[in-house]
Amino acid sequence: MSHWDVIVLGAGASGLMCSATAAYQGKSVLVIDHAPKAAAKIRISGGGKCNFTNLDVSPANFICQNVHFVKSALSRYPSSAFIELVERHGLAYETRELGKLFCAERASDLIQILRTECDWAGVEFRLNTEIESVAFENGGYRLKTSQGFVTATKLVVATGALSFPKLKASGIGYRIAKQFGLNVLNTSPGLVPLSFEGKWQARFSELSGLSMDVKVTANGHAFQEAILFTHKGLSGPGILQASNYWQLGEAIEVNLLPTESVLDVLKKLKQSGQSLPKWLNQFWPKRFTQVWLEAFPMETTLSNVTDETIENYAYQLTHWKLYPSNTAGYSKAEVTLGGVDTDEVSSKTFETSKQPGLYFIGEVLDVTGHLGGFNFQWAWASGVACGLSV
Ligand SMILES: Cc1cc2nc3c(=O)[nH]c(=O)nc-3n(C[C@H](O)[C@H](O)[C@H](O)COP(=O)(O)OP(=O)(O)OC[C@H]3O[C@@H](n4cnc5c(N)ncnc54)[C@H](O)[C@@H]3O)c2cc1C
Repeated sequence: MSHWDVIVLGAGASGLMCSATAAYQGKSVLVIDHAPKAAAKIRISGGGKCNFTNLDVSPANFICQNVHFVKSALSRYPSSAFIELVERHGLAYETRELGKLFCAERASDLIQILRTECDWAGVEFRLNTEIESVAFENGGYRLKTSQGFVTATKLVVATGALSFPKLKASGIGYRIAKQFGLNVLNTSPGLVPLSFEGKWQARFSELSGLSMDVKVTANGHAFQEAILFTHKGLSGPGILQASNYWQLGEAIEVNLLPTESVLDVLKKLKQSGQSLPKWLNQFWPKRFTQVWLEAFPMETTLSNVTDETIENYAYQLTHWKLYPSNTAGYSKAEVTLGGVDTDEVSSKTFETSKQPGLYFIGEVLDVTGHLGGFNFQWAWASGVACGLSV
């Protein structure tokens, strides 16, 4: 049996960051993961280029029952600190819309940076290793793994959440939390496509592959980003963002012309006698205009249309209510909403208040970021704060 100052469960984004930080503080650190390779989610994220942070990170980009919880770690390790780290390693990256930073070439370049940091700091890895049980004995932690017993003074749970089970995501972090008497808030898929049934599913399927720039609102939270039509419903950044706030049975609302003063324009079209579909086609793919006008018939020219009808048209175009039948589930979700209750975790050290030497970081916590690099920034920031404190 071997003993470590710190065992980190999970060689994902937060686990690697925490391990390197703790090892640089002189701690002996072992990382255990059941996956054959570290950081599978980084590898496939951002279409293989990993949207690793955002230039403009604020607590408002996160969903957490305790809204103040994220503030400390995010301010102590801002995105500029991570950018400084990757620049030191010579990573080529690019800035995209809304301050999103991506690797210029491959997400695996970023994994290499994190692995190099771990190697320099002296972190040891046991990949392909199942965690069979965790026990608290004699003031430390004793783990039974598929490769034998290991012990540590401190245990960091960085095992992520339930999204993308095919990348070895599991609920082990929640089970460990419950074992030590911590509260786990209900979980659900987040940043996830929305599915539809019936005629809208058929219409969206017909439009599959097209995208449009719109504004989507769910539960009072609005996002002006693209949506994408799919065979089963809707996806794309605007929908993924809204999905974090959507509840089963509720509507999402879509403003199909968010950059236009629609009522004013329709009044002008009435005066000029110009064609409505022709105007819509300036903003929408033609196929969508056809499908929309089949679903919501409107006069082609507005010359003989009453003012009240014009107001109704303007309302329909900017307040399109849609009722998704469900989300596409954890298999398609980028993140998991809910998780370990942050009321029982220190926002400075990430140690739990109920169990000495037990820490939770990253997505296993009840912290979910918006789309745009915020989830990785949370992984880096919580990993560093915890790594410094263990
Ligand atoms: C398809 C996809 C794309 C994404 N794109 C982005 C993006 O571009 N930008 C962004 O900010 N966020 C993105 N995310 C979200 C981001 O990947 C996560 O929020 C982030 O990885 C969470 O870090 P973590 O360390 O908490 O967990 P993870 O990085 O998921 O790491 C958890 C680790 O724990 C290990 N583990 C799990 N269960 C066990 C077990 N039973 N025993 C041992 N080890 C275990 C896993 O193998 C894994 O290595 C994306 C997610 C997905 C699924």
